[in-house]
Amino acid sequence: MDYKDLEMKKKSVWQQIDQNEFKELHEYSDRYKNFLDEAKTEREATTYIVREAQKHGFVSLEEAIKSPIKKGDKIYLNNKGKSAALFVIGENLEEGMNIVGSHIDVPRLDLKQNPLYEDSELALLKTHYYGGIRKYQWPTIQLAIHGVIYNQKGEKIELRIGEDDSDPVFFINDLLPHLGADQNQKKLGEGIEGEQLNVVVGHSSFGIDEENADKSPIKKLILKYLYEKYGIIEEDFQIAEIEVVPSAKARDVGFDRSLIAGHGHDDRVCSYANLEAILEVENPQRTAVALIVDKEEIGSVGNASMSSHFFEDAVAEIFNANGNYSEISVRRALRNSKVLSADVTVALDPDHKEVSEPLNSAKMGYGVAMAKYTGVRGKGGSNDANAEFLQEVREIFKKHNIIWQTGELGKVDQGGGGTIAYILAEYGAEVVDMGTPMLSMHAPVELVSKADAYMTKKSYKAFLS
Ligand code: MN
Ligand code: MN
Repeated sequence: MDYKDLEMKKKSVWQQIDQNEFKELHEYSDRYKNFLDEAKTEREATTYIVREAQKHGFVSLEEAIKSPIKKGDKIYLNNKGKSAALFVIGENLEEGMNIVGSHIDVPRLDLKQNPLYEDSELALLKTHYYGGIRKYQWPTIQLAIHGVIYNQKGEKIELRIGEDDSDPVFFINDLLPHLGADQNQKKLGEGIEGEQLNVVVGHSSFGIDEENADKSPIKKLILKYLYEKYGIIEEDFQIAEIEVVPSAKARDVGFDRSLIAGHGHDDRVCSYANLEAILEVENPQRTAVALIVDKEEIGSVGNASMSSHFFEDAVAEIFNANGNYSEISVRRALRNSKVLSADVTVALDPDHKEVSEPLNSAKMGYGVAMAKYTGVRGKGGSNDANAEFLQEVREIFKKHNIIWQTGELGKVDQGGGGTIAYILAEYGAEVVDMGTPMLSMHAPVELVSKADAYMTKKSYKAFLS
């Protein structure tokens, strides 16, 4: 070996793809942007995923278990309308599955249970933020309202306001610089407080009769509007699940259109890749599974999260349908599984290089990024992947021309993060974090490279197949 070949050479995706792949990459990005616009919440994402699964011949688990399940069968599980599992059945389930696990919940603002009030001639909604947001990023952008609310007749009303060009949008105020002297002295994290994230939803009192005009007429007009349009009354908010998200659509970024700005790349960039990948899997030797879950951003708790037993139960149901259920079979199937924990990681940011260690930071455009470990302060809370498994993954990627890189989330002791990796590792499965590098993570609008998004999908497909 020439000593020159001993050194690792890294070239970007852009430097390695041909004309066909360049075209494919942009077409994939268009489909992904469409998903981002259509599926802004975990519920909408689940609806999209289930619809696509049905279109591609997947049948529901409830339907599938009515008869024996065989190789090549395609099955989906819709878990509470907030998470999903898609299976393409292989030969011997006990020998384990190849699983790609991603999440579809996104940091955002949720409405409180008593949200509506009137102050200083405006009607507002109180919020409680969900997941890790930087509060100062949410004022003065255009917002949309999505969610589910039951009216007094018990009908489920699905709200989606602020997405259509003819819809109104909503807004959170910030201070003008002229009067910002005191605010400017505060630390960045304290400049806007959680209780200041109140969403303007109205201002007029036109048509409210004089008798009511001195008792919050603007709030009354909003309630009148909500009743006439959606049949809901104030009390209904107490049991509603409503989210406030940016109304911005996903858009190409750059003169060369090489990047995408959008809300919720974390982790819908991996979830969409996961979906397209599983839809293209045919007759795998090992059962292929796309797991797409909720509640990752608040610690994977609750019955739509990775920590709930819905996946394990689905595996048990599949054994049961074939008349060979036993606890040990389920345990073996999980223990013998191999998992890509599909979540985003940070890319080197030209304006904030100080938080990363350049040699071990993922770079935009260098492909899907593997994180052997995540965690904080000495890998705390991390699934630290085994070298033996990483070697297997490297071989698969080599065989399928996957362009990949490694990436640590920040330099040592800078901070850190976690994913759902540790949960599947608890079963004994081999797990490694593998996802798209990105910039401005958890901001209302985030940035990814089309090259990385495309390579992420290609890597999941290779792994699942
Ligand atoms: Mn994530
Ligand atoms: Mn996140």
